[in-house]
Order: sequence, then C-alpha cells, then structure tokens
Amino acid sequence: MQAGHAIGVDLGGTKILAGIVDRDGKVVRRHERPTPQDSQEHVLAELEAAVAELIDDSVVAVGLGAPSPIDQARGVVVRCTNLPLENAPLRERMHERFGVAVGLDNDANAAAIGEWRAGAGRGEDDLVMLTLGTGVGGGVVSGGKPFRGRDGAGAELGHVVLVHGGRPCQGVCTGHGHLEAYVSGTAATAAAHEAFGPSADAHRLVRLAAEGDAKAKELLEEVGRYLGSGIGSFVNIFGPQLVVLGGGFGVAAYDYLREPAEEVLRREALEPMRSAVRWAKAELGTAAGLIGAAFVGFEALDAS
Ligand SMILES: [Zn+2]
Repeated sequence: MQAGHAIGVDLGGTKILAGIVDRDGKVVRRHERPTPQDSQEHVLAELEAAVAELIDDSVVAVGLGAPSPIDQARGVVVRCTNLPLENAPLRERMHERFGVAVGLDNDANAAAIGEWRAGAGRGEDDLVMLTLGTGVGGGVVSGGKPFRGRDGAGAELGHVVLVHGGRPCQGVCTGHGHLEAYVSGTAATAAAHEAFGPSADAHRLVRLAAEGDAKAKELLEEVGRYLGSGIGSFVNIFGPQLVVLGGGFGVAAYDYLREPAEEVLRREALEPMRSAVRWAKAELGTAAGLIGAAFVGFEALDAS
C-alpha cells in the first residue's frame, strides 16, 4: 500500500467540496468553489480547477463522488439529476490531466465509504447508510466491501418503491411511491408548507419540534415511520450491523425520526437481523462525501 495523500472531490448541486486526505481519513487541507450550472464543459473545468488548487507532490490519487449513477467499467458519470453532466468520461479526463490513479463513485456511496472508514461506521463490515437531503442517497458496505452492483450504479436506495402507485418521485425519476418522495428534506418541506405556510421548510419543522410544537412532531414522526419501512426492507436484504443516518435533514431531524423509524423497523425486519442492527448518526457532516471520495481514489490506486 502506497503512502501519501488522495484528493477527494464531492461534486454537489451548489458546491464542489475538495480536500487532501490521508490514509486515516484526516483532512489536511480543504478547498471549495461553486458548481457551475450552465454547461458540462464548465463543470468539468471547475472540477479540474478544484484538484489543481490542492495538488502537490504528496498526492498519489484522486477520487470523485458525483450525484449520478456511475458506469464503473468505462469510468463515466451517466447522468446527474440536477446538473448539466451526462455521459461524462471523468476518470480518463482526470487521469490524463493529473497523471495519478483516479476513482469515481456515486456521491452517496462515497459518503457511506467516508463514514465506514473514518466516521460512525469505523470497524463495521456491514452497514447501510441513508443520506436524507434534497433527495435520498443510499450506500451499502457488505462483507467489508462497498456494494456497487454489476456496473457500479448500485445501490440507489432512495428509489425503492415504498407505496405502490404512490407519490410521484423527483427530478428525472419517473417512479411513483419511492422512498425519496416520503423521507427526503424536500418531502418534509412539502409537509411543512402544508401545515405552516409557504415560508416553512424541513429545518423549520425540526426547530418547531424542538420547541415542543405537537403538529411538527407529528409530521416528523410520520416521516420517521416511512423511513422505518424502508430501512426494515434494507435490513432484511443486507443484514447490516449498523444503519447510519446522514444528510442535512437526516442529521438535523435524527432525534425525531429515530424512535418512530425504529418502532416500524422492529415490526418489519426479521430475526436475527432486527435484534442485531444498531443506529448511528453520521459523524463527518458535510465532509463525508469528500473523505469517502478520497478513499475511492486510494481504492483505485491500490487496485492498479
Ligand atoms: Zn425515484
């Protein structure tokens, strides 16, 4: 295993977060810049600029997390829901520009890998992570390895069907009744609008619940119960030791979601999985994606 640092890059809808990270997951230096919204070439140029800003002789790999399914065989970002990036050969382009090993992954997979290697999931071989934000991202570590499916596009846990023929999903997703439509920050914001008017959002809902507002608590409990149904299914499929809840909304609302979610999970999940599973709140905050992306870079280096 080669020493040195990796640069991890988390491509978000509004910001590109990048950092130099060591093998223990410690962030040595950070950089951030806005994500351009106008063209693919501009997004690619800014990703390169973020890496160029940080790179030095200690850097042996680059890893990128993008909000899109990834074609691992070709090293291609398939299609971002909220960004002008489609069929983008990011791995080859970054390798040609910087001459180091380059790894590529879905942003939620990267966040799960970050929490697994350096956060709430340290030392676990089997975990499921859900990031509740604008959408719902999912990441799975199974048997001590990131689970990515055949082409690398898995696991899109936010887009499993919870309610047959239910609420329409978001963005480019054509599905109905997906988990994302019930437990994302966007879904909570929609519930807040309905109950408290157009200026209320998911975070206001959490603040109101903290102040003891019964309606706000009730709405969050409902989100929690949907979450428990989804997680119950994931526990039955993957048999994890740990479920990690992250993302801006997931972390903020953790204390209100966990109990109702756990109650439903205990009903839906089978033994011995349901007694074995523990819960944790994500520890790395907004750095989870870039730290995990750096580990994806190290993974590419170690495989080469
Ligand atoms: Zn969907």
